Amino acid sequence: MPDTYDRERAVALDAVRSAARLCQTVQADIDSGVMQKEDRTPVTVADFGSQALICKVLQDQFPADPVIAEEDSEALAENHEILDEVVDRVAENVPSANRALTRAWIDHGNAESYSDRFWTLDPIDGTKGFVRGDQYAIALALIVDGRPQVAALACPNLPSRFGTDDPSSIGQAFLAVRGQGAAQVPLDATSRDAPVDVHTSDVADAAEGRFTESFVSSHSSHDMAVQVGNRLGIDDEPLRIDSQAKYAVVARGSAEIYFRLPRPGSTYVEKIWDHAAGSLVVEAAGGTVTDMHGEPLDWTHAPLLSENEGIVATNGRFHEDVLAALHEEMEVSRS
Ligand code: AMP
Ligand code: MG
Repeated sequence: MPDTYDRERAVALDAVRSAARLCQTVQADIDSGVMQKEDRTPVTVADFGSQALICKVLQDQFPADPVIAEEDSEALAENHEILDEVVDRVAENVPSANRALTRAWIDHGNAESYSDRFWTLDPIDGTKGFVRGDQYAIALALIVDGRPQVAALACPNLPSRFGTDDPSSIGQAFLAVRGQGAAQVPLDATSRDAPVDVHTSDVADAAEGRFTESFVSSHSSHDMAVQVGNRLGIDDEPLRIDSQAKYAVVARGSAEIYFRLPRPGSTYVEKIWDHAAGSLVVEAAGGTVTDMHGEPLDWTHAPLLSENEGIVATNGRFHEDVLAALHEEMEVSRS
């Protein structure tokens, strides 16, 4: 019988929920002006706090699983002031937290290379969005035999659907297990709402679609995306948001395409933790995810997606059309 990953799914959801609460309390302090926006401290505290909480849970529940996470506690070794802030935040959840334990939990995420079964974590994806008070995500995925199998993606500032003005709908988590679909559930742990299945949109013509891309133009070529969008006949304005919330909005049908297209001359290599959870959420919801050349994402070179360039995610209805338009545009821009 194939593994249904029930325990992994439940543990991952609990873990990203508690990390999201930590991030929300830190972000609330930024908004109230307690900390200055130019100051990197809040994002650093939330980033390390999130990683500590999630890695502690993974260490307790799945001690044999390596974790490839973004942060390393070495960065805090010389900075006890920030380390103590991280410890205080973590202690709100885990009262036994102290400096040594917190650093050890963070560094449980320091696995560096591919293995048959491992977790990958971005404790705060979209730090620029976090600081701005916009979208960010906490992204956790389990990769088994070279494919993401379980994903938990928390989007603390994403409403349940666009257009709603219900403040209680802000803060959503997305869950996926390969072969079992994808679901959205409010982040609020006290909520009794059951996860609701999400599906990519059934828009069958790319021209009727909408695309989403990075808010930050240095992370993805906005120019290229506009050109490809023009070729496809897309009129709608792009939805520019930070983090893997982009995958979530494609998964639930709020957008049809996610473009992540390297800027001309870029040598940036994508990291697995920026795509593992989000791409599985899209695939499990019925969508398609490849790199910009149509190649499947290759997770076996963790922590890098070194065999891939760019990312294209779609609702699964016209992926080939999008790749063809992109290919044509690349030919033109090369000549
Ligand atoms: P996003 O919020 O989608 O714009 O992406 C945020 C992620 O972009 C961060 O987690 C970084 O790991 C990643 N990143 C940093 N520099 C670049 C770059 N030059 N190109 C693409 N992604 C980048
Ligand atoms: Mg990231």
